[in-house]
Amino acid sequence: MDFSLQPELLDLQQRTRAFIRDQIIPLEGDSRQTHHGPTEDFRRELVALGHAAGLVAPHVGTAYGGLGLSHVGKAVVFEEAGYSLLGPIAMHIFAPDEGNMHLLEQVASKEQKDRWLRPLASGATRSCFCMTEPAPGAGSDPSALRTTAVKDGNHYVINGEKWFITGAIGAAFAIIMAKGEDGNATMFLADMDTPGIEIVRAMDSLDHAFAGGHAVVRFTNVRVPASDILGEPGKGFRYAQVRLAPARLTHCMRWLGAAKRAHQIATDYARQREVFGAKLIGHEGVGFMLADNEMDIRTSRLSILHTAWLLDQGERGGTESSMAKVVCSEAIWRVVDRCVQVLGGQGVTGETLVSRIFTEVRGFRIYDGPSEVHRWSLAQRIARNGANW
Ligand SMILES: Cc1cc2nc3c(=O)[nH]c(=O)nc-3n(C[C@H](O)[C@H](O)[C@H](O)COP(=O)(O)OP(=O)(O)OC[C@H]3O[C@@H](n4cnc5c(N)ncnc54)[C@H](O)[C@@H]3O)c2cc1C
Repeated sequence: MDFSLQPELLDLQQRTRAFIRDQIIPLEGDSRQTHHGPTEDFRRELVALGHAAGLVAPHVGTAYGGLGLSHVGKAVVFEEAGYSLLGPIAMHIFAPDEGNMHLLEQVASKEQKDRWLRPLASGATRSCFCMTEPAPGAGSDPSALRTTAVKDGNHYVINGEKWFITGAIGAAFAIIMAKGEDGNATMFLADMDTPGIEIVRAMDSLDHAFAGGHAVVRFTNVRVPASDILGEPGKGFRYAQVRLAPARLTHCMRWLGAAKRAHQIATDYARQREVFGAKLIGHEGVGFMLADNEMDIRTSRLSILHTAWLLDQGERGGTESSMAKVVCSEAIWRVVDRCVQVLGGQGVTGETLVSRIFTEVRGFRIYDGPSEVHRWSLAQRIARNGANW
């Protein structure tokens, strides 16, 4: 594995860094940020800035307006974007849209790409991914899927309820996971204004950065033409893996950028604040916290880069992305928690961005597979195949 970056990628990294620093961070105080993400007009303004900088959806292929970044390229650029919570919005690389674009690019037909991917990749629309259901339905265990899709002539009729659906409010379309009569899962594409799709309510959550927040979505006799099946019927779980392995890695990339921001703020404070006759950083207890932060940041980045590199070699990288997700989500959480501590009282107030980052990243240890589920499935693999190092 070669760690050197091509000049074009280095240039893109610098351009992204400058864009976030000069154009996005100054907007962080904008009042158009609600508990359910930026308002749609603010989001559009941010995306317009992204377009002017030539940085919208850089992961998408050039045929759909992106830069066709490799997975390693994404690792470099998304980390820069994540330095501001508004960066991924402006570059339109936030979840679930970024993962949905990847899935559509991999699996959708030409007609479906023109209809749904093209406007999505430009940032003109948003989307949502509907998989998780209230108990006893699909959650950590997707095989408990209860939403049904029953064939009726050239259509399927979908019934069920989903929750935690990120971006659902204001989304133009949904990717819906439903179970067919044969028990296999299929993915469907449906515009959100299709009769029978209902946003039941917005869900309050610790995080506020995701555009469109999180919602409960109900499907009542939703008729979807067979032509709007994403990929082939019965392959829903396989496509979920196509989406998830890279999508959970891009979460790691963006949140690593946010952790770096928190670490920068805490470091600046520790280097200037004096207590008991010495700079904070001169007290071993604080210096060690910042040292541990740098080790966690570096370990996370290496784990991301290695997995990204494997994906670029054409490997599925499911196990590696699963491990990277646990490593990064837990390391990033530790970093931000230490930053809160180093900042003292300010750490838990809105005086700095750190308390905001703290609440934003907590969910990452749960979505895209809780840490315990990744450990459990890794343990099963070890039980089956023995040690693998
Ligand atoms: C902020 C946020 C955004 C989300 N966005 C989306 C979205 O856009 N679309 C979507 O479909 N879903 C989304 N989700 C749902 C998310 O994927 C689920 O919350 C997650 O898969 C866990 O499922 P659950 O909440 O049903 O927890 P449960 O399945 O009830 O599990 C609860 C806990 O049990 C433990 N556990 C479970 N299995 C095991 C095991 N085998 N061994 C040990 N411990 C175990 C874990 O600690 C887990 O956290 C989102 C969730 C959050 C918090």
